[in-house]
Amino acid sequence: MSSPPPVSSAAPSAGAGLNLAQQEAVNYLHGPCLVLAGAGTGKTRVITHKIGRLIQSGLKPEQIAAITFTNKAAAEMRERAKSLIGKPARGVLICTFHALGVRMLRQDGAALGLKQQFSILDSDDVSSILKDAGGSTDAATVRQWQWAISRWKNMGLNAAQAGAQASGDEERLLARIMAHYEERLSAYQSVDFDDLIGLPLKLLQEHEAVRNKWQAALGHVLVDEYQDTNATQYEVLKLLVGPSGRFTAVGDDDQSIYGWRGATLDNLKKLPLDYPTLKVVKLEQNYRSTSAILRAANNVIGPNPKLFPKTLFSELGEGEPVRVVDCDSEEHEAERVVARIQSLRLGAELQAAGSQFKEWKDFCVLYRANHLAKPFEKAFRKAQIPYKVSGGQSFFDRAEIKDLCSWMVLLVNNDNNPAFIRSVKTPKRGIGHTTLGALSAFADTYKLSLFESLFSNSLGSVLPAKAVGSLQEFGRYLNDLEYRAKRCVGFEAARLFLTDWLKEIDYEKHLYDGEESEKVAAARWSNVMDFCDWVAQRCGGQITDAAGATVERESKTMLEMVQTIALLSTISEREGEQNVVTLSTLHAAKGLEWPHVVLAGVNEGLLPFKLEDDDGSNTENLAQRLQEERRLMYVGITRAQRTLAVNWLRKRKKGRDMIAGVPSRFIAEMALDQATVKEDPREKLKALRAEFAKKSAETLAAAAAAQGR
Ligand code: ATP
Ligand code: MG
Repeated sequence: MSSPPPVSSAAPSAGAGLNLAQQEAVNYLHGPCLVLAGAGTGKTRVITHKIGRLIQSGLKPEQIAAITFTNKAAAEMRERAKSLIGKPARGVLICTFHALGVRMLRQDGAALGLKQQFSILDSDDVSSILKDAGGSTDAATVRQWQWAISRWKNMGLNAAQAGAQASGDEERLLARIMAHYEERLSAYQSVDFDDLIGLPLKLLQEHEAVRNKWQAALGHVLVDEYQDTNATQYEVLKLLVGPSGRFTAVGDDDQSIYGWRGATLDNLKKLPLDYPTLKVVKLEQNYRSTSAILRAANNVIGPNPKLFPKTLFSELGEGEPVRVVDCDSEEHEAERVVARIQSLRLGAELQAAGSQFKEWKDFCVLYRANHLAKPFEKAFRKAQIPYKVSGGQSFFDRAEIKDLCSWMVLLVNNDNNPAFIRSVKTPKRGIGHTTLGALSAFADTYKLSLFESLFSNSLGSVLPAKAVGSLQEFGRYLNDLEYRAKRCVGFEAARLFLTDWLKEIDYEKHLYDGEESEKVAAARWSNVMDFCDWVAQRCGGQITDAAGATVERESKTMLEMVQTIALLSTISEREGEQNVVTLSTLHAAKGLEWPHVVLAGVNEGLLPFKLEDDDGSNTENLAQRLQEERRLMYVGITRAQRTLAVNWLRKRKKGRDMIAGVPSRFIAEMALDQATVKEDPREKLKALRAEFAKKSAETLAAAAAAQGR
């Protein structure tokens, strides 16, 4: 066994170095720059260091924007920038394209007729509006509409334009549904995720003053994971930086894994054409993985066509061979992963002094689809291994959290009809479907929002006095809450406000009344408490952190806070790193790294995903999908620093059936040395435990002998 390479899971220290190519990219300040390099070569590190360099060169932190792919990546970059540059890092705008869009629309959306209090709809909100707009309750149909409308929006088309270029009746019908959908969004003062890119683009394209303002405000824009931007995002970037092209984009064409969501490698191809003075920097040294891991990664990505050829090398030593583990079933696989984690930890303990103890956070299990996490969760619980699931069901998708969010959204934006309907019904307050139906019809007739309709003099002509009374009571309560919310600043005040509000609407009782089991209701109530605490913390001021220390957080208004909730997927996105094993989808693992990685369920049908279901009629499409799956495998392999295990299942579930499992073609493509790769972690664990017991007995005997002496 070769000795472990000197890799640590800790963040780099502030003074850590850069190689020559990285320095070249960091020091190139005045023109467009593209860093194009493979995984783990320090692209993200270039961005963080360049922020510091730009400030050093005289830019104000506020003039710098760094755009990341996820909120989590933004939080991490903020941390790294802070430890590198200190306080000035606070002023730098580090966020996702979507969060940047929120900021632009909040500042300048009025030019598009958008109020500052607009709401952001999540995918569930969108589908319920589409159900209404298109008159269908079939979830699959509505989902198809949602995808198609999103695709049109990403191509920069509105309903009228989509209708004009529609081919066939089906597309024409869809364009009409899109038109209804657009009307509703504008009536509700709401935007969807695509609008957070599309509307800022419209702003920059059509409003010169706004464009000039942003170009003057931003001295440099940095973009991480550039290969996964879509066409609209690229247009936004171009208009933000203007003709001088002061930007730095970093990316890797081999890691483009969001083609299914409209990301396009054309953005990479276009850069040198749109910016002839573009400086292209290539990085070739990988600082993350051992040679054994890197070789497997290079072999897998080999068959894909290359946009830019690159050769990656690592100086971290050969390291442990990549292991292929065959498992009988998902449950068996989970047991094997538990055994692997335990044996790696035990092995580290047994090693000579100076070896690094393996913490839980050093381990990660990656899989293709969310539902594959379940067996691991069960096995980890049984073995008492702490873990977190990232990229799975969003905390904010839970019914109880959506209830509370809809109330908050309604406080901020009274005109948001979907939020109005959800809030008025939770908890129930004797306002039924008939009343709401009549109110909706009234609002439609007079082009009012539901909230505005409550106090209209003529509402009494369509509803009985009792119903009008209940509705107005609800309206008055909202007004009162809004009045109080506006006056609560800081953590303590916000917490008090939230506690009072939950008591007033009797939300706890609502949960217990609605659930068949007390246990479920209690879990939901506990989520509500977590949520309230989190909201209060985000209102800023002086708060006590997890370690009991008093810290001062930047104050946020309720408006800002509530507006960005829809962009978050987990409540822990802003929390520091926890010492737990990570369970994650491959997509959510982009840009991250762990010392020990297990790729789970590397089977045909899972990774690559469901190619066999394709009827094969569109071979070009099939080839492209296979290439994207191969890039996903490459992303997975290159997350590992020191050890990598690749599992496949002899039997796997497909729908309700169990089918024979076939190892993924990507396993063969890794071209591992067959003699060394197979391993049964449970056997290894048994041997290690025996050795550990022997060592412990020896230590005890030695201690007893010393005492007796
Ligand atoms: P990915 O393609 O996965 O996003 P990346 O190219 O962004 O990877 P980073 O995450 O920036 O790579 O860097 C990978 C690892 O290598 C990190 O742990 C980083 O701290 C380390 N690293 C990068 N450059 C250097 C360097 N010059 N010296 C030492 N360590 C480095
Ligand atoms: Mg990166």
